[in-house]
Amino acid sequence: MDALSIMYHDVVERGDSSASGFPGGGPAIYKLDREEFARHLEAIRAARRPNRELFLTFDDGGVSAYAPVAGMLEQYGWRGHFFVTTDWIGRPGFLNAEQIRELDGRGHVIGSHSCSHPERMAREPWERLLAEWKQSTERLAAIVGHSVRVASVPGGFYSRRVAEAAAEAGIEMLFTSEPTARARTVSGCQVLGRYTVQRGMGPEWPAGFAAGKLGPRLRQALLWKAKGLAKAVGGPLYPRVRAAILRKASNG
Ligand SMILES: [Zn+2]
Repeated sequence: MDALSIMYHDVVERGDSSASGFPGGGPAIYKLDREEFARHLEAIRAARRPNRELFLTFDDGGVSAYAPVAGMLEQYGWRGHFFVTTDWIGRPGFLNAEQIRELDGRGHVIGSHSCSHPERMAREPWERLLAEWKQSTERLAAIVGHSVRVASVPGGFYSRRVAEAAAEAGIEMLFTSEPTARARTVSGCQVLGRYTVQRGMGPEWPAGFAAGKLGPRLRQALLWKAKGLAKAVGGPLYPRVRAAILRKASNG
């Protein structure tokens, strides 16, 4: 598939990061201001290649998917992929069932982001992995009234086993956080990478991704490799290393 995917999270008003999605300073770096996001969409519109599928994806299931994100996408005739953490449905700052159903009815794609957003998905035992995918897709299917076969990996902690469990749970398309446009297939499940956007990244970044420009994609791939090393180190060091790398990414 000739496709390219961009990963967003929440869109909030003037830095009010508590309004949507997971609380705290870590998640806040992924929350864009509405004006910032509007500039991104305009830049993507100008840059995107007509012959290539572009997936605009939004992780976690924060309530900003419902407003303002969905409406802003619809102004361009676009639809989003919204990945919902199902244990958080209806909690403050998160989508409720009614909003999820309406987004689906408006043509947006509703997918799973696991039930509980495990901290290290790839390290979960097989049964737990399977339950995270199965129970979350079943819960969403009950809400939207049809099967849910799309998902994204929480925290970007991907391994082949994570995809094998997803395939076993009936998921046909799994988005990771690996900055690549290459798709691969694991046990019949299509695995697609994504380019990450966080607050403070200028619109030239998503525009560069959408245009398929190599510069910004390679820079993100290099950062991803550094991050991969940090992950291998594991332990409590990792979140700090990640924060430092992400800061570097946003300055770059
Ligand atoms: Zn997430």
